[in-house]
Amino acid sequence: MANVVNEAREFLATHWQPDMDLAKWKELVIDNRWSALRWPEDCMGRSLDDETALEVEALFLAAGAPGTGQDKSNLWAGSIVGFGTPELKQQFIRPLLMDEVAMCLLYSEPGAGSDLAGIRTTAVRDGDEWVINGQKVWTSGAKGADIGMLIARTDWDQPKHRGISFFYFPMKQPGVEVRPLRQATGDSRFNEVFITDARVPHANLLGDLNKGWWVLQSALAYERAAMGVSRRGPRGPGGATSAAHGSIPSPDLSLVKVAQQAGKSHDHVIRQKLARLYCMRLVNDWNGDRAKAVSEAGGSSPLASFGKLAMSGILHYAGHLHSELLGAEGALDGDANPSARDANYSHLNAYFTSIGGGTDQIQRNIIGEMILGLPKEPQLDREMPFREVPATARK
Ligand SMILES: Cc1cc2nc3c(=O)[nH]c(=O)nc-3n(C[C@H](O)[C@H](O)[C@H](O)COP(=O)(O)OP(=O)(O)OC[C@H]3O[C@@H](n4cnc5c(N)ncnc54)[C@H](O)[C@@H]3O)c2cc1C
Repeated sequence: MANVVNEAREFLATHWQPDMDLAKWKELVIDNRWSALRWPEDCMGRSLDDETALEVEALFLAAGAPGTGQDKSNLWAGSIVGFGTPELKQQFIRPLLMDEVAMCLLYSEPGAGSDLAGIRTTAVRDGDEWVINGQKVWTSGAKGADIGMLIARTDWDQPKHRGISFFYFPMKQPGVEVRPLRQATGDSRFNEVFITDARVPHANLLGDLNKGWWVLQSALAYERAAMGVSRRGPRGPGGATSAAHGSIPSPDLSLVKVAQQAGKSHDHVIRQKLARLYCMRLVNDWNGDRAKAVSEAGGSSPLASFGKLAMSGILHYAGHLHSELLGAEGALDGDANPSARDANYSHLNAYFTSIGGGTDQIQRNIIGEMILGLPKEPQLDREMPFREVPATARK
């Protein structure tokens, strides 16, 4: 494996210049299979073990060259790598790595959020296609999406977790109506999606028929791991940055600056709170590394739930602290008061992480059952054919 590290060093020396066009660089990194090192060769990776991959990633990091690590962060392509047919891999992996396909997650429904196995969107086979009917909700990025990762019920006579299938569903077709919802932050990033007699080819099934629940668990673990390390900036849920492996992440100093500007950086209590926030972030970054190491070694990763739960607490804590630093000024808002606007936004946007991808309470259930070994929650409808589950018990 020393060869591949040398090859990476040579690649960086030959091609990377800090002032180069980053779009061109991204393409070079992807086409030379440096972007997803742990994935197999037919998925634009190099099948590297974690230790070697980390060595190569460290070289890129030291050179200041972006583009590696998509095997840890690219949920969309990751699901195809794990469960797609060779044709789907061929069709989608490169465009997904290049960020050329707009994607969304069609999981939650008005009657199925925390209890996703209660979904009622239906897929019925018609020749080489499936016909989809139902309603999804809270779908981030559905407006403009090309493909939705859709869970739908394909067998109503099986118990709730076993009759679900997972599809790569084309969004731009008749029968798909997207209606934006407005959030407390003022953003409009998620939507309701109404699906009426829309179609998806059978070839777009991920994993086995009626076994979509297991594909979903893998996709949710990816999402939770990413949310566990994402440091949301003051505006918008984009801008997630992963902690650098093997190095101590630099502290988020933005609130230190706010404290200085507010003349509170010598206040002992404030200093303790800033240090506490930094320590919480640092420990959570280490936990994120631990969760990734477990999942990359082939284990299941309930540890990702720890990270997501901790990040939810960190974001709420940071929002409160920001407001506390501003004092009465925090009651202002709008572009003329950027610091107060950012504090308010951080406060409200913290709920993104404490609800999206599974609520804090659900992460606690997962931690209780899968890490602490506590008894499972009673679920009376678990083994019944879904058809017989009363609608009121489906939540
Ligand atoms: C910003 C954001 C983006 C999102 N993006 C998407 C997306 O792109 N695609 C998508 O499909 N969904 C998305 N969601 C939906 C999200 O996954 C659901 O909102 C979430 O799973 C909770 O489901 P629910 O809203 O139906 O709440 P419910 O499941 O009705 O829960 C209501 C309350 O009851 C609690 N609760 C429920 N069951 C239990 C239990 N067993 N034990 C303890 N407490 C429980 C919950 O914690 C919560 O406090 C998004 C949500 C947000 C906030």
